[in-house]
Amino acid sequence: MEMESTLKEYYGFSTFRPYQKEIIEKILGGRDSLVVMATGSGKSLCYQVPPLIAKKTAIVISPLISLMQDQVMALKQRGIKAEHLSTAQTNLSAQRNAENGEYDILYMTPEKACFVPNSFWSRLLTTGICLVAVDEAHCISEWGHDFRVEYKQLYKLRDVLLDVPFVGLTATATEKVRNDIVDSLRMKDPHVAIGSFDRKNLYYGVKSINRGSSFVDELVAQISKHVANAGSTIVYCTTIKDVQEITKSLCEVGIKAGMYHGQMSNKAREESHRSFIRDELQVMVATIAFGMGIDKPDIRHVIHYGCPKSLESYYQESGRCGRDGITSDCWLYFSRSDFGKAEFYCGEASSVNQKKAIMDSFMAAQRYCMKATCRRKLLLEYFGETFASNKCGNCDNCTDSKEESDISREAFLLMGCIQSCGGYWGLNLPIDVLRGSRHRNAQSVEVLMIVLVDRRPRRLLKTSLTISHTMDLEKIFQQIGGRCWVFN
Ligand code: ADP
Ligand code: ZN
Repeated sequence: MEMESTLKEYYGFSTFRPYQKEIIEKILGGRDSLVVMATGSGKSLCYQVPPLIAKKTAIVISPLISLMQDQVMALKQRGIKAEHLSTAQTNLSAQRNAENGEYDILYMTPEKACFVPNSFWSRLLTTGICLVAVDEAHCISEWGHDFRVEYKQLYKLRDVLLDVPFVGLTATATEKVRNDIVDSLRMKDPHVAIGSFDRKNLYYGVKSINRGSSFVDELVAQISKHVANAGSTIVYCTTIKDVQEITKSLCEVGIKAGMYHGQMSNKAREESHRSFIRDELQVMVATIAFGMGIDKPDIRHVIHYGCPKSLESYYQESGRCGRDGITSDCWLYFSRSDFGKAEFYCGEASSVNQKKAIMDSFMAAQRYCMKATCRRKLLLEYFGETFASNKCGNCDNCTDSKEESDISREAFLLMGCIQSCGGYWGLNLPIDVLRGSRHRNAQSVEVLMIVLVDRRPRRLLKTSLTISHTMDLEKIFQQIGGRCWVFN
């Protein structure tokens, strides 16, 4: 009962959400815990309630100062004593208050937590620490989509705070990442709570596009329709140039659109964020710099312009939609040229493992784009959740009636042609060859094919020409894309 009354007293809620109570009980019992639950499911409460009951300080490790500031402010408004410490800050009195155990909840950046002197911890231990929560715990793992070196150092804290329960919390974690969190934080037999990743109120849709001004016009028209209804929209772009172009086009038709990207000053970004929260902006056009800590409940549309760099980040970014549980849409527009960015993304890798992780999750995002069957099923199964049905009824592949046709023959031809071209020409050339293009490169490949394909070269070329007159190869290719994965 004490837990419920604490919940009511500080938060005004009458009941706990699924998993919250059991997690809090385990933590109070001193057990390490791993909490993997979707955005908006109420993870924060799991580490905010124990200190109020145990009357000991909770240490919360969080990656972003702005995020900590928001949380501290919200907690103070509820009458909970909270503060944050970072290496950037020289607030000695806050640090002194902290070590005297005067805060219920103390937020710290990972650097700060690893570099405060041991005397800080030993003093605080005498008044009591009830838990160490590591928020956004996937940042610990090289297999995750947002690896942060500072997070890797957190095991040092474990050595100092031997008997304090550690709690890792994240909204996205594949099994590999989960194991990494447990190992890195040296958790002992942790209690693991994995909620469902299924965001039932979100509709998932994907469309293949040709980049260019005509698509931007189409996008603007679509957003105009959205903003006529209430609620906000986020458009995620893969480059700052796209952010600028789309914002400009939206503003030109009278839509209140703002920007958010890494080349803006901190002040301009904060201002943009604030205007969005206050509904002074209808649309936020952003790079993924517009990330953690966006807690706006009524975002109705999240649009991705370009294939995201990982399926984890797509899930997280699209997950900012519909936090209030009301029906909302997540649309992804990709062009095949987006898939050529693998090398660029791998440039961020600092190890072979990390490069492989980046590559794998980018490939998963591509599979999501090309998928011809239920997208929700793919998403959930990627995160290790079983989705019993083959159709969710709430994604484009489930709701759009698509005619099924057997294109094995065309697929075979295309694969053969790619192989004949040597496998290193990209896709346009094999398609040109099959179309019987008169383009110089395509013609030279015809020669190449005769040389390389020693059996029946004529027949292959002849069939190619037949195809070019009767079918939309672009479309065929999309469908084949779906099948290629089966071939693999
Ligand atoms: P997460 O950290 O998992 O993204 P939050 O902790 O920010 O989610 O919670 C999302 C929203 O749900 C918040 O507005 C929070 O106040 C609300 N919430 C959390 N727990 C409960 C509860 N037991 N009853 C009602 N609302 C809750
Ligand atoms: Zn579906």
